[in-house]
Amino acid sequence: MLTVAENLKKVADTLPPEVTLVAVSKTKPTTAILAAYEAGHRIFGENRVQELCQKYKELPKDIRWHMIGHVQKNKIKYMASFVDLIHGVDAWSTLKEIDKQGKRFRRTLNCLLQVKIAQEEQKFGFGFDEVLSVLQRVHEEGLTHVAIKGLMGMATFSQDVAQIDQEFLKLSEFYQQHQNKYGFTVLSMGMSGDYPIAVANGSNMVRVGSAIFGNRS
Ligand SMILES: *Cc1c(COP(=O)(O)O)cnc(C)c1O
Repeated sequence: MLTVAENLKKVADTLPPEVTLVAVSKTKPTTAILAAYEAGHRIFGENRVQELCQKYKELPKDIRWHMIGHVQKNKIKYMASFVDLIHGVDAWSTLKEIDKQGKRFRRTLNCLLQVKIAQEEQKFGFGFDEVLSVLQRVHEEGLTHVAIKGLMGMATFSQDVAQIDQEFLKLSEFYQQHQNKYGFTVLSMGMSGDYPIAVANGSNMVRVGSAIFGNRS
């Protein structure tokens, strides 16, 4: 079995230089995160606020923490002082709360809007039309402490490469169409099982967990 540092290098070596690697450390102990940290990695992703806050407390302060999971409104206050990027914003009311907490902590919180591209029922996210109306509303209502940096999407959990390819392509085309108008810089697509397909379709941020840290139990 390869070590965390070896896995990290293997994944990182396949990525073009413009693609940011978020090492998804959810459920993994701080020792595993430190192994990646000592190999020079600084960007980690978690999907539960409580675990994110606990790890933030225990680990070096130059780590940039990404919240990659579904965001519960009542927990935003716990991470608002330090979170670097919130990937999974999928409701207007969540954005309002992020703005409120941003004001409270006097910082602008970087967010991605999660777009629903998968076929599965349970995946969170906005439809394409909803994304545009949310962006319009952010502008109109003047959410001064939220910065929408781009979009995030998850493909259907499937072995069907053609389907995954289609889903990523659709999001990538939408992103490119609206990139200039809204100043997007981040397109977050791709996990351990599908990040090469995501990168081939223009992703510039991948969220990779098990391929670095091993399977989660
Ligand atoms: C867990 C998770 C990942 C990483 O999944 P792996 O398959 O382990 O790479 C990426 N994105 C989100 C939103 C996740 O919840």
